[in-house]
Amino acid sequence: MKKIIVTGGGAAGMMAAVSVLQMGGRVVLFEKNEKLGKKLFITGKGRCNLTNDCDMETLFQNIMTNSKFLYSVFYGFDNHAVMDWFEKAGCPVKTERGGRVFPVSDHAYDVTAALERELRRGKADIRLHTEVKRLLAEDGKIKGVELADGSVEYGDAVILATGGLSYPLTGSDGDGYRMAEAEGHTIKETFPSLVPLTVQEEWCKSLQGLSLKNVRASLFMERKKPLYEGFGEMLFTHFGVSGPLILSASSYYGKKGKGEKAVLRLDLKPALTPEQVDKRLLRDFEENKNKQFKNSLGKLFPSKLIPVMISLSGIDGEKKVHEVTKEERVRLAHLIKDLRMTVTGTRGYAEAVITRGGVHVKEVNPSTMESKIIKGLYFAGEMLDVDALTGGFNLQIAWSTGYQAGISAVEGGGRNS
Ligand SMILES: Cc1cc2nc3c(=O)[nH]c(=O)nc-3n(C[C@H](O)[C@H](O)[C@H](O)COP(=O)(O)OP(=O)(O)OC[C@H]3O[C@@H](n4cnc5c(N)ncnc54)[C@H](O)[C@@H]3O)c2cc1C
Repeated sequence: MKKIIVTGGGAAGMMAAVSVLQMGGRVVLFEKNEKLGKKLFITGKGRCNLTNDCDMETLFQNIMTNSKFLYSVFYGFDNHAVMDWFEKAGCPVKTERGGRVFPVSDHAYDVTAALERELRRGKADIRLHTEVKRLLAEDGKIKGVELADGSVEYGDAVILATGGLSYPLTGSDGDGYRMAEAEGHTIKETFPSLVPLTVQEEWCKSLQGLSLKNVRASLFMERKKPLYEGFGEMLFTHFGVSGPLILSASSYYGKKGKGEKAVLRLDLKPALTPEQVDKRLLRDFEENKNKQFKNSLGKLFPSKLIPVMISLSGIDGEKKVHEVTKEERVRLAHLIKDLRMTVTGTRGYAEAVITRGGVHVKEVNPSTMESKIIKGLYFAGEMLDVDALTGGFNLQIAWSTGYQAGISAVEGGGRNS
């Protein structure tokens, strides 16, 4: 029986270990935390959006980096296979808006519990509180791993699934990158991605807690063409902006916007043309013509946004609505369609949903997940230079790469122990 060492008990590592067991292999799983799947518990706001119920084309469209590399593993264990797997493992799933798949229970815990049950059933040797320090390789072939306490574990193959750099408190703090690099792998420069953005304007901070639904956002850097354009929900925070729309925008900003300024432009009424916005203002103004301007905007904006819009429009809030000039009204209409903020950076890894960059995919066999540098070494999950947008796609990467790494490790691993 082949003995496979899995390093990292996150989504990818657990799925890899399950797949080793299914293939008839023996698993030793090292996880430095006190429990498995620490990050999984906080995914999808504690509900775990574990994959997306979409077609293959959409799956690939949502991959931001190196989608071609994932071709084989996605076809080998796709989103529907993932849903089936969890159903059969006692974690029924449901599909919500945008194809997002969650456990029926709405508890991320049930996703980890299903994987853990399979691991225990297959008698995986799970070693918690155990940190892997170094890979042991000789003549281009993996031998095992060295643990933090100096002891050594030998195996026929090693699957490295230590995650990226985001949310380091969950255990993913870049260990795997260092270990892979030490064995000759190239690490593509990493960036926090799917991350809130910091904004320069002070007024933005005064909107802290305000969530805007159905707005259009576009992000510009030096070019005239937007880096990103999207529609959806966003949130103002004490440092800037967050929410699904902004996280998606950050995925485009990430690499290019390393500390560089960008302009975020919001269309607060994307369903209306500029002319329709002006007409709407005329109507509202007519209805409120004897009110003070500051008391006339209740139907147009949430109350928190009103003082900001008044201040940015430059219209005296105290004046009567019938005194607002055409020029002022046009200015307000323009602001509604094009509210601008200066993006100064991201909130970094501490608040990033994922890490962009990682183990260079040119050095990994896309059909097997095996290293092209060290035989018997396999990679899975976020530590690879692959990433996706929100919607369950990042976990799909973890499941698919983990599943394949497990199969390949048993099929291809040598005999060391
Ligand atoms: C707040 C948040 C919400 C998210 N929500 C979603 C979502 O709803 N849907 C989605 O698709 N994606 C989501 N993601 C992204 C998703 O969680 C990750 O892409 C996924 O967890 C990556 O899995 P992984 O197994 O590669 O890495 P991880 O889950 O990070 O697991 C790596 C594991 O390796 C362990 N480890 C690290 N170094 C060592 C070492 N030296 N020795 C032993 N063990 C080690 C770590 O402790 C960790 O447990 C979210 C991420 C965050 C931060």
